[in-house]
Amino acid sequence: MALVVTPTPENLLQAAQRIRAGRLVAFATETVYGLGADALNPAAVASVFELKGRPLFDPLIVHVSSTNQAQKLCSQWPVTADKLAARFWPGPLTMVLPRADLVPDLVTAGLPNVALRWPAHPVAQQLIRLADCPIAAPSANRFASISPTSAADVASELTDPDLWILDGGPCQHGLESTVISLVSERPIVLRFGSLAVEDLEAELGPLTIAVRSVNQAELQSGLASPGHLSRHYSPRTPLLLIEPDEFPPTIATHQRVGLLCFGDQASTPLTPHFAVVENLSVDADLREAATRLYAALRKLDQANLDLIVALALPAVGLGRAINDRLQRASH
Ligand code: AMP
Ligand code: MG
Repeated sequence: MALVVTPTPENLLQAAQRIRAGRLVAFATETVYGLGADALNPAAVASVFELKGRPLFDPLIVHVSSTNQAQKLCSQWPVTADKLAARFWPGPLTMVLPRADLVPDLVTAGLPNVALRWPAHPVAQQLIRLADCPIAAPSANRFASISPTSAADVASELTDPDLWILDGGPCQHGLESTVISLVSERPIVLRFGSLAVEDLEAELGPLTIAVRSVNQAELQSGLASPGHLSRHYSPRTPLLLIEPDEFPPTIATHQRVGLLCFGDQASTPLTPHFAVVENLSVDADLREAATRLYAALRKLDQANLDLIVALALPAVGLGRAINDRLQRASH
């Protein structure tokens, strides 16, 4: 069993020393829990891939505790980066920029660019500051499974007895960061996440979106950019994602089926036919839905179901990010 640790000043100091010594520490952020290693220590970064079972072609986000620290990790810092950092950092926005030579290949999966984020959660900030190095951290779950939004979620998946999990309570956003590439002249959104694209557009004007699903073969052929695997964030139970107007789907009568829904979608006459119903937000609040998504998927996954039927959410704001995750969970 990994050790869940309260983030007292003394424990934070010890956790930081672990990072400095090339060991791994899982920690709370405002998006999801991260599995962290010293980003400048390739051996430590390699253990992250190993513990997660993550393929080496999927690059890691590097977490910093100041804009200045981020600037040292890239070879160019365009005006747009300044603008976005001033507006959204610390917070759930990851910026992809041309990397500096000191960033190990393993972190970027050999790409010439590095993904950077300054998280807002005090536990994450203190850990990075005390370790005095950037921390590479993917979500603290086994590869392709559901991201953890509590210390207990991490402990249930990563059982390494040497691992510390810094408990910062349940994650405020519950969904990964939004990823934007600033590598070329025109910014490109690479991943929907807990910062709504509409908020970025309010700052930058209309954005190009390149959030596409690729399969492993495409990635290995080098034809696609990494990190957009079509199967990701997945429960073990098969998940069927449908639009509300496709409801109800055809389901074999002997099947034990769960329903994942939102707002008044739950009040259909068919609801009683589902063995379990998880409503992401009774008040149809997208922020609440984002916060609850992964916990709800975990709960449904543990309910011994043959199938999870998920109803797509309104495709605006965080609804787009949630639908993206449900789509990837459904493969
Ligand atoms: P996570 O799985 O939450 O650790 O997020 C990592 C994701 O960030 C990857 O799967 C990519 O979508 C994105 N990412 C990280 N590094 C890069 C990079 N160098 N270039 C493009 N996207 C990246
Ligand atoms: Mg992840």
